[in-house]
Amino acid sequence: MNVLVVGGAGYIGSHCVRQLLAAGHQPVVLDNLVYGHRAAVPAQVPFYAANLGDAESVKNILRKERIELVMHFAAYCYVGESVHEPLKYYENNVSATLRLLGAMLEVGVKKFVFSSTCATFGVPAKLPITEDTPQAPINPYGQTKLDIEQVLKALAVAKGLSFAAFRYFNAAGASEDGSIGEDHCPETHLIPLAFDAATGRRPALQVFGTDYPTPDGTCQRDYVHVDDLSRAHIAAFPKLAEPGKGHFFNLGTGKPFSVREIIRAVEKVTGLTVPVVEAPRRAGDPPALYADSSKAQRELGWVVKFPDAESIIATAWRWHKARPEGYGDKA
Ligand code: UDP
Repeated sequence: MNVLVVGGAGYIGSHCVRQLLAAGHQPVVLDNLVYGHRAAVPAQVPFYAANLGDAESVKNILRKERIELVMHFAAYCYVGESVHEPLKYYENNVSATLRLLGAMLEVGVKKFVFSSTCATFGVPAKLPITEDTPQAPINPYGQTKLDIEQVLKALAVAKGLSFAAFRYFNAAGASEDGSIGEDHCPETHLIPLAFDAATGRRPALQVFGTDYPTPDGTCQRDYVHVDDLSRAHIAAFPKLAEPGKGHFFNLGTGKPFSVREIIRAVEKVTGLTVPVVEAPRRAGDPPALYADSSKAQRELGWVVKFPDAESIIATAWRWHKARPEGYGDKA
């Protein structure tokens, strides 16, 4: 299929572009390069530097490239920032996404794959989190993603949109050949920051909160390899053949790792010590989030290739060692 990957120069989008090529699809990338990296997109993939909310540009690209399906990865994704800058999150993650969906429907493209998040669940009453767990986000980031999930359901009924929405747990790792990986500016994610602390690029890693109701007092998360995520997206394409149907899947390995456990795993993989300082809780962080992904396994035949933190961290470390500055294109 001809697939428009919105945000295809970003972390998860760029890995998905590689997986699309490997699966024999034709990806086309749209990215405004605010957070994305041109070098993360292979040269043979058509690339458009445009905003996802620019409906005229989107319509032109959809027509010109004969796009059959749109995958949307272009979101602001910092939980803490969303608490302090909610308008930025509503404008990009909601308003611009509505314009993207409007442009698709005008042109008649009715297949959509959406990056949602475990942050839509807030502080769940029960763990692990299934697709039926009630959603009650505790930060604007999660709320913006839930808003779009609800818009998608309405568009399935009203306009025959077919969609798959994936609630990612904590995307981590890098491509196995070490050629692309995580490079956020600013970097806020645990594993790359732990590498920076281990290698002396930062003085220490801050541990945000040590008084959570978890076994060691630090937050537990479900780290899932970015290539495993991408494979689930592509496995969902056949499901989109039926018009007006929506599918939700939680994607995680199902195993919780605390911040301290991740630090130990980083030390084991790198052979280095991670200097840490204890810091207050970060706004918007729930104590524990981990997935029940049995629906994706059952319905998509999804098999997790990287089931544990160390195997995921090993791929991220290969990328980080090769490119400690990342792509080197951001200030
Ligand atoms: N975290 C931390 N120190 C950092 C960055 C993150 O203790 O410098 C914690 C954070 O509070 C959360 C976990 O690590 O409990 C994962 O955070 P990250 O930002 O990597 O992903 P998120 O859960 O926000 O998607």
